[in-house]
Amino acid sequence: MSEATTPTIEDFRATVRSWLAEHVPPRDPDEPFLQWDDDGVARDRAIQRALWDGGIAGVNVPVAYGGLGFPNAYQQVFREEAADYRMPENFGNAFNVVLPTLLAHGSEELKLEFIPRLLNGDHIWCQFLSEPSGGSDLAGLLTRAERDGDTWRLNGAKIWTTGGNYSDYAICLARTNPEVPKHAGLTMFVVPMDTPGLTVVPLTLLDGTVDFCQEYIDDVVIPAHYVVGDVNDGWRVATTLMMNERTAVGRGWSLGGRKGESEEKGIELNLELLGLARHLGRDQDPAVRSLIGESWVLNAVQAQTVKRVSAAMATGDLPGHAAAILKAMSGATSPRLGEITLAIAGPTAAAWSPDDHNRWGFRRLSSHGIGGGTTEMQRNAISERLLGLPREPSQDRELPFNQLRQNTIPGQRT
Ligand SMILES: Cc1cc2nc3c(=O)[nH]c(=O)nc-3n(C[C@H](O)[C@H](O)[C@H](O)COP(=O)(O)OP(=O)(O)OC[C@H]3O[C@@H](n4cnc5c(N)ncnc54)[C@H](O)[C@@H]3O)c2cc1C
Repeated sequence: MSEATTPTIEDFRATVRSWLAEHVPPRDPDEPFLQWDDDGVARDRAIQRALWDGGIAGVNVPVAYGGLGFPNAYQQVFREEAADYRMPENFGNAFNVVLPTLLAHGSEELKLEFIPRLLNGDHIWCQFLSEPSGGSDLAGLLTRAERDGDTWRLNGAKIWTTGGNYSDYAICLARTNPEVPKHAGLTMFVVPMDTPGLTVVPLTLLDGTVDFCQEYIDDVVIPAHYVVGDVNDGWRVATTLMMNERTAVGRGWSLGGRKGESEEKGIELNLELLGLARHLGRDQDPAVRSLIGESWVLNAVQAQTVKRVSAAMATGDLPGHAAAILKAMSGATSPRLGEITLAIAGPTAAAWSPDDHNRWGFRRLSSHGIGGGTTEMQRNAISERLLGLPREPSQDRELPFNQLRQNTIPGQRT
């Protein structure tokens, strides 16, 4: 398929539907959403490669970079059709965050070098944003990059990097000028994960999974042209990145969309919770039924919010910063759904065996509003950027970064 032969949207839907049915395994509800291990990563690379070989990767990505060049509505059709299939979710950062950021700010050279190999399943990407000194105050980060001839030399540390140990490249925000206020001295880089000096340490979570990593960046040298956007204009690039991330988290991170996302499907009952209640013999309990009803309402309100806010953003009635509404919504919904799950699961949530995929207690722990920026930060963005309320008081917006007393770790040079 190519730009010159854009099919009708109905024909495209039919093609995607039959192709997925033939080539991609159905979504298995017992399978973890993100499976950061050898098997999960190999499977997701193979699925992404199959999408590429089948000619349906990068639906709305320009043809010049390996995509199909179709309008965004076709990408939405793909999401809807893919909702019932195993999508390569380990490419979530690559597609939800890195791809739109490269398209918006990357040089032609970077786009040609990286986008085709993201689409064909060769490259998994991760994000180097948060640092041990804090994640909310992103502009206060300490990792620094210094120009060294034809290269950049990076030093610092990152943390909470989803899939860092299985990624091929990172998109990395670092400080390139400490002598100006904090937002003005940042630059976004591409960092190959196999660069000498980059040490990736997987972090084992409470339930034994290893989804996150910490990285030590010691004299990591990268080519001069691995800069996304302009030098010292990294905050603008990071803002694009964060708006895309907030939209994706708010809408649903899955590359395959979710049930109820399209108009026709409506909002479906949470079958997982219903199944849990039935399994425990609690589905006739009025309190449990009421909780399942509440989960339906939460999903319905969230889906409608996503639809309305996304539509307003697409028409320009709301600015890109409205993505914070989507993220704040999911940040409120997700923990409540976790509480509901726990309330229905009762004592069965207290412990689980390693092969038990329905780790209900863990679901509560992992239902949060933190990833992609906390709910508090979304509220700040909504109040300041959308409602025009006064900024929260801060001393650190005007002073040069190297004159600030906060955001230092003993022994770490800024
Ligand atoms: C599932 C998941 C995936 C993640 N993946 C990645 C990743 O791939 N790459 C990456 O770089 N990071 C990742 N993160 C990290 C995430 O971005 C940070 O955890 C988040 O930005 C918060 O930073 P922090 O944990 O350092 O908390 P802090 O910034 O230390 O904040 C602590 C608390 O203080 C509150 N707070 C801070 N400042 C303010 C303020 N100005 N006003 C009001 N309240 C405030 C926060 O809301 C929070 O409750 C991930 C996190 C999760 C949970």
